[in-house]
Amino acid sequence: MSWRADILTLFPEMFPGPLGLSLAGRGLRDGLWSLSAHDIRDHAKDSHRSVDDTPFGGGAGMVLRPDVVDAAVGAALVEAPGRPVIYLTPRGRLLNQALVRDLAAGQGVVLLCGRYEGVDQRVIEARGMLEISIGDYVLSGGELAVLTLLDACVRLLPGVMGAAESAAEESHGAEGLLEYPQFTRPAEWAGRAVPEVLLSGHHAAIAAWRRAESETITKERRPDLWARHETERGGEGAIAGHPAAA
Ligand code: SAM
Repeated sequence: MSWRADILTLFPEMFPGPLGLSLAGRGLRDGLWSLSAHDIRDHAKDSHRSVDDTPFGGGAGMVLRPDVVDAAVGAALVEAPGRPVIYLTPRGRLLNQALVRDLAAGQGVVLLCGRYEGVDQRVIEARGMLEISIGDYVLSGGELAVLTLLDACVRLLPGVMGAAESAAEESHGAEGLLEYPQFTRPAEWAGRAVPEVLLSGHHAAIAAWRRAESETITKERRPDLWARHETERGGEGAIAGHPAAA
């Protein structure tokens, strides 16, 4: 069975959105992965199809109800159980390429998009959800975060990217470095020449230049990544040990 994403949202019409285009879209049409967006409202318990209520303890906004969300999660897991259930939230662990690789290596994901003030804590705990943030800022809903996470995972699925080696050398790869600069024709543009070595045809020299550029850029721009590269060089699976990953 191909890698499968079930998305729980109040706005199913936002999917597949940009994932229906380019490499991800072609992979979707070729059956290399599948996507189903489910309306959380279909699991409402009343005739008004309400999904949210005011927060206990007071405060602004509304909170998605645990019974409604739980029913939506249960329905999504029926056909393909065993996949991690992920709640996209600014309170989650930061998404990075190691986590993306782990998720892409599994059977797929169930993704919960929050809205308003978020989701009742009890259903997050009861379903053992993995909480993931795409960055230290606040979106108005989880849908764009889900699209980001899915795009990053899907491009790693076998057959989705054109050249098998495309992912090998790019930023945040196995070595945890940022990518070297890229150049294409014309060899001279607006008084700026391409670095000589790239025109030399000398593969070892080109590889050495690229490696040195990667290291310099990583040290300058992301000392945190450089420090990790220096100490770790590898490491454990990003979601190993999480109950939802079992
Ligand atoms: N009250 C929440 C808080 O302060 O943590 C923010 C709720 S936000 C307005 C509504 C929804 O957007 C969240 O439940 C979550 O699903 C999604 N969201 C917002 N920012 C996000 C981020 N950085 N990463 C992932 N999801 C995010």
